[in-house]
Amino acid sequence: MSECPVCAGTDARPSFTKDEYRHFLCQGCDALYLHPVPSEAELADYYVAQEEATRSSQCWDRGEQDYKHYKPIWDAALRSIESHAGKGPLLDVGCGGGQFLAFAREQGWDEIEGIELAPGAAARAAERSSAQIHSVDFLANGFSRDRYAGITMWNVIEHAREPRRFVGEVERLLRPGGLFVADCPNRRGITMRIIGKSAYVVMPPEHLVYFSHRSLRQLLEAGGLVIQELSTNTIYINDWVRYLTKPKAEAEAREAHLTWYSRATSSGLGMGVIAAANIVLNAMRLGDQMLVAAQKRST
Ligand SMILES: [Zn+2]
Repeated sequence: MSECPVCAGTDARPSFTKDEYRHFLCQGCDALYLHPVPSEAELADYYVAQEEATRSSQCWDRGEQDYKHYKPIWDAALRSIESHAGKGPLLDVGCGGGQFLAFAREQGWDEIEGIELAPGAAARAAERSSAQIHSVDFLANGFSRDRYAGITMWNVIEHAREPRRFVGEVERLLRPGGLFVADCPNRRGITMRIIGKSAYVVMPPEHLVYFSHRSLRQLLEAGGLVIQELSTNTIYINDWVRYLTKPKAEAEAREAHLTWYSRATSSGLGMGVIAAANIVLNAMRLGDQMLVAAQKRST
């Protein structure tokens, strides 16, 4: 019997199979998850050996110019951390090529650290941001408790085999009043609702859990954090370009996506349209990305 990685419930229904990976829908917390999941060792090997060939590398290892749509989100996150816990030590878990850490440094954050296991990305992150990059497992107990003003995970929690342990470790490492900010795919976002398992974001064995508002709230509250914000943003242009054009080669698909991305983000008008779209998507809870900010209790 499959156990839900979010709520540990065992009442799940089969949802679909993609690339021979079976997915289940938890009746308790509304999470959609892959089961059985590959072992920790298999996943670690997969990410290190595949590195740039992983499908999700399209999201975390692009050039600086491909993160324009993230800048307002990162900016709001840093302001929120500062207002809750001050401009203290910041840890970005799964920092990829270090784009967020470089942005934080530009905004005057000096005590910045990242965790990245893929060696090429870790080297690029160190170079890009001058942050201290740790190539260790986040759960390996290698970090100081009650230390961080902010811990961030951009598109990371959906890769975690044991998301509850991730949140437990976040709670332990944050200083009292510190803020956790994360985003992840929204399984009830417009793209997964319409394209379903054909969406590019459904990428086993990289993505292991797909959250909705209810399951993300459940995960963080069960871990002792207090939700400050839970919103949605973004439409996955990448998934729609791939779905509608059905490119034969991966390189062709990436090229098409970047063309569309650059069209959308290269002007003030484009960025204004994105900002307006995000307001509407959030009001309808249909954004493809969920964004959460949750605070550690002050003792
Ligand atoms: Zn569940």
